[in-house]
Amino acid sequence: MLGEFDLIRAYFQDQVGPGVLGVGDDAARMPMPPGEQIVVCKDLLIEGRHFFPDVDPETLGHKALAVNLSDLAAMGSKPLGFLLGIGLPEANPQWLAAFSRGMLALGHSAGCPLIGGDTVRVGSEKVISITALGTLPAGQPGLLRQAAKDGDDVWVSGSLGAAHVALLGLQGDERITPERLGSLRPALEIPQPRLALGQALLGIAHAAIDVSDGLVQDLGHVLQASGCGAVLESSRLPIDVRLNGLADELRLKAALSGGDDYELCFTAPLARREDILTLARSVAVPVTRIGRIHSAPGLTVLDDHGQPISIRQSGFDHFGPAQDDV
Ligand code: ADP
Ligand code: MG
Repeated sequence: MLGEFDLIRAYFQDQVGPGVLGVGDDAARMPMPPGEQIVVCKDLLIEGRHFFPDVDPETLGHKALAVNLSDLAAMGSKPLGFLLGIGLPEANPQWLAAFSRGMLALGHSAGCPLIGGDTVRVGSEKVISITALGTLPAGQPGLLRQAAKDGDDVWVSGSLGAAHVALLGLQGDERITPERLGSLRPALEIPQPRLALGQALLGIAHAAIDVSDGLVQDLGHVLQASGCGAVLESSRLPIDVRLNGLADELRLKAALSGGDDYELCFTAPLARREDILTLARSVAVPVTRIGRIHSAPGLTVLDDHGQPISIRQSGFDHFGPAQDDV
């Protein structure tokens, strides 16, 4: 029988840098990097709502940390460390070993050690909450949602739609063949937070957000916070090539309103186009210009002929009306 403290020692004791007090005392302690300020974010994942009960625990460990690192990336912040709160109905060593392996591997590759947390037993559904700490240079505001400016280009990193279509496939949608689902699953289960891109955009981009709830909804947050609007050209959207061969309507809907992409959507002045393409090459992440910010509120998406297409304000909202076939 694995006790709470053996469990923590076996699976959640991470390597930390010099001067850092990690797992084991009443609280963790880290030196503040000189000239930096703290950035902090938290996400909560519940079994059955955010992940399937039988999901591969190694990919779950990866994703639980990745969604937080994506929030740091969207601020332009560099990760410093993270805390893990976890509620489990039982201590299953195989499950814990795989979960910890996936989580700590991403942490190591991102320079973000596990420095503490809390572990409790729960009745049935697993609960995972990670708090990630990062830094920004002192005086640097970060890539804020409120910072989009009239005339900015709208950009997005990577490709869109694959994670959502993978989810449809896992939910039994017959349009998604097993072969296609196999190629799409990594997009849903092993998202790669765009940390290097976010940090490289500091001082160049104006606003940024990570696309976790769908492009339309997440860009909508930027527009609302910035008090402006935007026009997107659907023909410019970097729809994931793994969706080739599916109906255009499904591909477009996945790219515009599908969640879980964890790409960065950002705005920047036209004068920085070349700089952005250069920095994107230097961090090896493709970026695509998809539209323009304007002063009048509202988001318009144009079809191939320049005609507005009807978009519902879709994307995931935990407290919104029940979702249909988004
Ligand atoms: P406390 O009683 O002060 O809450 P705990 O006994 O819960 O302390 O935790 C002991 C140590 O183990 C602390 O340093 C805590 O940060 C760490 N810890 C507990 N659970 C986790 C976890 N899931 N991941 C990482 N560290 C953990
Ligand atoms: Mg505790």
